[in-house]
Amino acid sequence: MKTDIEIAQEAKMLHIREVAEKLGIAEDELELYGKYKAKLSDELIERVKDEPDGKLILVTAINPTPAGEGKTTISVGLGEAFGQLGKKAVIALREPSLGPCFGIKGGAAGGGYAQVVPMEDLNLHFTGDFHAITSANNLLAALLDNHIQQGNELGIDPRQVVWKRCLDMNDRVLRNIVVGLGRKMDGMVREDHFVITVASEIMAVLCLADDMHDLKRRLGKIIVAYTYDGKPVTADDIKATGAMAALLKDALKPNLIQTLEHTPAIVHGGPFANIAHGCNSVRATKTALKLADYVITEAGFGADLGAEKFFDIKSRMAGLHPDAVVLVATVRALKYNGGVAKADLGEENLEALKKGIVNLEKHIENLQKYGVPVVVTLNSFVTDTKAETDYIEQFCRERDCEFALAKVWENGGKGGVELAEKVLKTLETKESHFKPLYADDLSLEEKIETIAKEIYGADGVTYASAAAKELKRIADMGMSDFPVCMAKTQYSLSDDQTKLGRPSGFTINVREVYVSAGAGFVVAITGAIMTMPGLPKNPAAYGIDVDDNGVITGLF
Ligand code: ADP
Ligand code: MG
Repeated sequence: MKTDIEIAQEAKMLHIREVAEKLGIAEDELELYGKYKAKLSDELIERVKDEPDGKLILVTAINPTPAGEGKTTISVGLGEAFGQLGKKAVIALREPSLGPCFGIKGGAAGGGYAQVVPMEDLNLHFTGDFHAITSANNLLAALLDNHIQQGNELGIDPRQVVWKRCLDMNDRVLRNIVVGLGRKMDGMVREDHFVITVASEIMAVLCLADDMHDLKRRLGKIIVAYTYDGKPVTADDIKATGAMAALLKDALKPNLIQTLEHTPAIVHGGPFANIAHGCNSVRATKTALKLADYVITEAGFGADLGAEKFFDIKSRMAGLHPDAVVLVATVRALKYNGGVAKADLGEENLEALKKGIVNLEKHIENLQKYGVPVVVTLNSFVTDTKAETDYIEQFCRERDCEFALAKVWENGGKGGVELAEKVLKTLETKESHFKPLYADDLSLEEKIETIAKEIYGADGVTYASAAAKELKRIADMGMSDFPVCMAKTQYSLSDDQTKLGRPSGFTINVREVYVSAGAGFVVAITGAIMTMPGLPKNPAAYGIDVDDNGVITGLF
């Protein structure tokens, strides 16, 4: 079997103009970034805004394991399979972050014969959106420190600066730093912090904004610090909004690329699902719904994080109505959840599968709480046995879920036809009664508790005293009607990454809370989760190279 990057590099791509044509987009409505990438212009978005919406299909998964689940692979393969069936489909994905590309996880272009291309461009700088977000984030930080330096007219308390600098890199030494060392001219000395760009509120704002007007409104409301008497200071207060928005002018436009089978893919925005809200941009999703009959979108990590936020944050805020959910599982990941070591996952083990399938069970139950019909798909690995896949199929049928085996990694769109047919059948026969999990008017504590109990299966929630105090301050500022964006490990339903399967008898520990007033949600950080990841001992970067002809190797 060839590697992902070898398959991607052999692809014969169409000019992006021809891919756009499939969606009825004229070349004039594109902003070309070379031959194979384009941004969708504001004129296009304006032209299609009154078209009827297609069907919205969310791809999510069980809790991730080191064995890999393949949500992007399935999303891409399902889009290609719709193409095989002659349906007009578009895939709406997030842009990859450089952090995981050079760390453990690798890129996010899919895998095998279900990939979006150009894979190297997408995984590296793409159209520069993340660089623009990083710049806007750091412009805000620079203006804030400069305000303090230039007389601090607003009375900002340097100990209560909450805005953090950002970088799209896993760089643990920047988690806690001191800035302003030196002489008086070098600024006010204070403790500072970096987050990874995908955790920046600017990323969330860009992904939730409807248009430039809404982007500016949201940017202006970002709280950057508090004054000595405890009043919030916003980006508007320090006159940062206009310049930040100018930096984000092009980043706000969705990007169009293609799959290996030339299915259109709109790839835009990319907050992580463990530390941020985990969904591609609202603008991309809404435009995709206008352009195609079927829109397939992916939310990050497991359904406890990505799907929960897709429903409770993105769909709630953007008024989206998801029509079906595809829940991805693998035999390997379920056996891993049943206690099998990574090295032994290739062997048939029905006992471990029966033990680990409780993880799938919990995610099915969770998704059904949102009223959206569920299709379970097994992302097929060559090592899976018939007894194992039969067992899972039976398990899903007993829970009123359609089931399909997907072989898109091996066979591209053809390997996803069974899945596409099950999704079509579900769309035709089962109506979605989508509703978010909790109401806007619950208190923030009640919202956190609802997610912890209903979705994670926790007994309750405990708060560090600083977190409890912050929740009170946010409520006092009149923001308790915001949804909550949970930051939690992706590996477990609990906040302890070692608890696999379907843990019970645990509490969720909220360590830190802050409000993202521009994005419009409250972030609750649980367990040991970090908003600036680190690199492992053998980072993926060691294997990445480029030859004298500019051909890149080692990305995956
Ligand atoms: P996710 O979106 O859930 O993070 P990806 O789709 O990015 O997962 O897949 C992660 C990795 O697993 C990719 O490198 C991909 O090539 C690999 N992969 C996915 N599906 C399969 C499969 N069926 N067989 C072998 N490898 C796979
Ligand atoms: Mg993915």
